Amino acid sequence: MNTHPAHFPHSPRFPYFAQPLAIVTGAGSGIGAATARALSGEGHPLLLLGRNTARLEALGLPDTMVKSVDVTDGAALADAVREAEALYGPADLLVNNAGVMLLGSVDRQPVDEWDRMLDVNVRGLLNGVRAVLPGMIERRHGTVINVSSVAGRKSYAHHTVYSGTKFAVHGMSESLREEVSPHGVRVVTIAPGAVETELLSHTTDEAVKTDYQAFKDSVEILTPEDVASAITYAYRLPQRVTLRELVVAATGQAA
Ligand code: NDP
Repeated sequence: MNTHPAHFPHSPRFPYFAQPLAIVTGAGSGIGAATARALSGEGHPLLLLGRNTARLEALGLPDTMVKSVDVTDGAALADAVREAEALYGPADLLVNNAGVMLLGSVDRQPVDEWDRMLDVNVRGLLNGVRAVLPGMIERRHGTVINVSSVAGRKSYAHHTVYSGTKFAVHGMSESLREEVSPHGVRVVTIAPGAVETELLSHTTDEAVKTDYQAFKDSVEILTPEDVASAITYAYRLPQRVTLRELVVAATGQAA
């Protein structure tokens, strides 16, 4: 496993945990919930973030701190990380997963939907990075896994703003990876294809939603657990190995 004794000693303060603290944003549903379950199953204490705490608590995972945090609120996110680290020890993994996909045409889409996607998918992800990176750099150990999308590598109709945010995730992740690699910290970008979650349900353009649902129904798409297993695979590699980018989609997804 990834735990390095020099960085995670069994100190009197944190005697109980065999694995270091892992943080998952947007953990109440979909990919985030599956990732939280997988990491918990591997023995990690967790900090789970999202706006709906009832859903985070419903996961019922042991050694888990649940906080209602909107990732666009950088101060609240940083406070939650500090509180969890005081209880469970330093964070060694951040899965920056929270995101929104509001598909639509730029000429018709309400501008506040652009704002939400830019705020959550871009700024929220940066807030997560800011909250954990100084400690990881100091410890010369840690992993940030940014959840992008195949829509962050190629574009699709009606994905203009969403795609822009996910291209931003790829660009920012690569730049960040170069910055922190001399400090022994890893940055991984994971780009899933279509996954069976509630992500599409928030799109308000009914025609676009119907089209996308028809595509989802036409192939056997990924499960959240498929993506979670890719995330844990990347994390479990030795700290000296960085899986820089991982694109994972259903075999039947041609586009
Ligand atoms: P879900 O809608 O199930 O999960 C998104 C999660 O993000 C929710 O749990 C939601 O929780 C949380 N979230 C949304 N806004 C905020 C916010 N402001 N602050 C904190 N948490 C927030 O969808 P997925 O599991 O599919 O999405 C997870 C990630 O995977 C996203 O980044 C998405 O773009 C990406 N992705 C998904 C694909 C798919 O086909 N499903 C494909 C490629 C990438 P709450 O409402 O409680 O805050």
